[in-house]
Amino acid sequence: MKYIRKFSSPESFEDWKRRHPGADWHEFSLPHNAPVKDDLADSLRREQGRICCYCEKRLSRRRSHIEHIKPRSVFPDSTLKYSNLAASCNGGPTRQNACCGHKKGAWYSPRFVSPYDRSCEHRFLVTAAGEIAPRNPKDISAAETIRRLGLNTPDLCAMRRTVYDVLIELKSTLPPERFQEHIEQSLLPDGNGLFEPFWSTIEYVGTMLTLDGLEIPDELPAPRKTKKRKRRW
Ligand SMILES: [Zn+2]
Repeated sequence: MKYIRKFSSPESFEDWKRRHPGADWHEFSLPHNAPVKDDLADSLRREQGRICCYCEKRLSRRRSHIEHIKPRSVFPDSTLKYSNLAASCNGGPTRQNACCGHKKGAWYSPRFVSPYDRSCEHRFLVTAAGEIAPRNPKDISAAETIRRLGLNTPDLCAMRRTVYDVLIELKSTLPPERFQEHIEQSLLPDGNGLFEPFWSTIEYVGTMLTLDGLEIPDELPAPRKTKKRKRRW
């Protein structure tokens, strides 16, 4: 998960709030406020380099929504605070691939590892199968966050696996310095401020491969195996 460095709130949004003291999300979402809401959503997407705040998939205007990190049903006072808002993808089209803001819904726990938590970039690893897992096996907060956000859907794992495979291929063809340069470059925003989708996968796998020198490692943690339950008859 990539840590989000916040921009300042758009002036149009702050101005709307000044003119509508005590307003709630429902009022803000009325159709005649669409230009202000569009401004807000665009600012959130830009500050994230147009990748989803949770899964890091590329965000489009049509397939994303404004996410409340602390849900508005539980934290009504934070509903219109810019510091509580982020841009999330809408997840996959099937229930099996539901993830991110829509999957999380109104869930919140003090254990939630959010993209506004500075430690979030060091709490997760990516397996060769494209799964996300806690970097520390005892980190139950990271494990619960993965589960609640649905970060290991088949679609997301397949996309991360593609990133992983490309990096393995590059590692086998480029000289070590060129490979390292490629990783460093890939982690920076491009000329339009866009981050690479699955930034954390590039960062984690790229670092692992760089640290391991010329070897193409098979020592990335293996995919987790689910324990078979004993039948009770
Ligand atoms: Zn997402």
